[in-house]
Amino acid sequence: MKNNIPRVRIGMIQSADEIHFGCDSTFTVFSLGGEKVATGLAGQNYTVGADHCKPSQIFYCVRLAIAITEAEKKRRQEELAQRGIATTAWRPGVVLSLGGGDMDNREYWMVTEPFADENAAREYARTYEPIGEAVVVKDIIRKSSGTLLFGQHRLENGLRIVADKAEALLQLHDVTVGIEFHWQHKRTQLIPGVLEINLNNAGHLQAINELDIESYLMSVNSSEMTKDNPIELLKAQTIAARSTILATMGKHHYDENFHICSDDHCQCYHGVGNISQASRQAAHDTLGENLLHDGRVCDARYAKICGGIMEDYRDIWDHREIPYLVPGSDGRENMTYPLRDEQQVKDYIDSSPDVWCNTQKYEIPSSLPYNTRELFRWKVSYEREELEALISRRLDENFGDLIDIIPGDRAPGGRLIYMDVVGSKRTLRVGKELMIRRALSESHLYSACFYIERAYDAAGKITHFHLIGAGWGHGVGLCQVGATVMAQQGFDYRAILAHYYKNSKLEKLY
Ligand SMILES: [Zn+2]
Ligand SMILES: [Zn+2]
Repeated sequence: MKNNIPRVRIGMIQSADEIHFGCDSTFTVFSLGGEKVATGLAGQNYTVGADHCKPSQIFYCVRLAIAITEAEKKRRQEELAQRGIATTAWRPGVVLSLGGGDMDNREYWMVTEPFADENAAREYARTYEPIGEAVVVKDIIRKSSGTLLFGQHRLENGLRIVADKAEALLQLHDVTVGIEFHWQHKRTQLIPGVLEINLNNAGHLQAINELDIESYLMSVNSSEMTKDNPIELLKAQTIAARSTILATMGKHHYDENFHICSDDHCQCYHGVGNISQASRQAAHDTLGENLLHDGRVCDARYAKICGGIMEDYRDIWDHREIPYLVPGSDGRENMTYPLRDEQQVKDYIDSSPDVWCNTQKYEIPSSLPYNTRELFRWKVSYEREELEALISRRLDENFGDLIDIIPGDRAPGGRLIYMDVVGSKRTLRVGKELMIRRALSESHLYSACFYIERAYDAAGKITHFHLIGAGWGHGVGLCQVGATVMAQQGFDYRAILAHYYKNSKLEKLY
């Protein structure tokens, strides 16, 4: 049974000149080819260095569409060809071996011809219509190479460290946590499984933890799961996280030789040093259970607070219909959607509907690490000059004086698909959801579901922008606060998952 549990490779340290580690037990060092090279002692610190490293040769393209089936891929490529855009299809993702047969979770990416450099690709992506569809992607022409140093041993391109006792843990030192956030710091992480050290694309060292997905899940969930949370919520979150990992492995870091990173970019993984009992139980009770649609594992997205109406995948990311990520009311009150005009959006944001994530109506555990009451509905204000400087800096664009911001099309639950930033020199169209949130805050605006109130001076010029909004995050899939309330109201994890992931079914894959 245990052999069928998929293994996942996590990028723990993405760039370093030296990597320091230790182990609870004696350990063995293998070459990447599996040859036994050296041994080490318990409780000692070891260092791996590098010598004569060459970076990878990289090329940059722009991804214009994603498809699941061969037929859809063909159709999208033909549509693009009619617009004079030649594309090739990449196949990111993994094929899972599950004992009972393989499950192909790969997708097709339609990408342009390579650009001269990253900037040229970015410029093309920025000006591509429809807005927000194009993403810069990269791949490797020639992989980085070099020599790794362990004691007096020299190994080509990488090495693998395995504890001699199955239950022993490795200590990986100096792991940076919270990259580019204000809480960034370094820690020692305790990891099970294999520690692989190899070269990243820049020719620097990187550390990868290869382990079974169940051990990984317990740890990923521990940061969010406290014992005060209802167990049915923890089970629902565990299944959503497990499904997402299996569905997205190998896609977010397509050009790297690990599946996902250990930081906020993918999912926070801090080793197995702090696994909570609640998280262990949730993983154990739902072992191997995944959400499936049409024979594939669902990319079960989730966000903090939807605000009342769950959003449609295609309005937030690439324009694709994902049958299990569709709009819906998040509660007892039957919300009217889509919100068709600005007045309906304003009325919705100004209301306090009977929905699960409305913590003005429902209590949630006080232990949750964020203030949900202030984020179900919120207000952010800027002086005109302040917002002008902010947008210009965040988007790296000079549009002159900020004259106004005009909301564009909206998703069914009110999130903006794009907005026009009207400047004295030019107008910028900004989208989709994440770009809008990035442009309007030093970090990220709570959500793209907001309306704008303006204050004017005597001459009729705008002096202040007030953004009045609903929810936190993209609002697609499971609403974490809503699911917490559902569990407290007595719904089990199956009911919670069926509510947030329509047209999906639960299946035990191993
Ligand atoms: Zn990542
Ligand atoms: Zn919600």
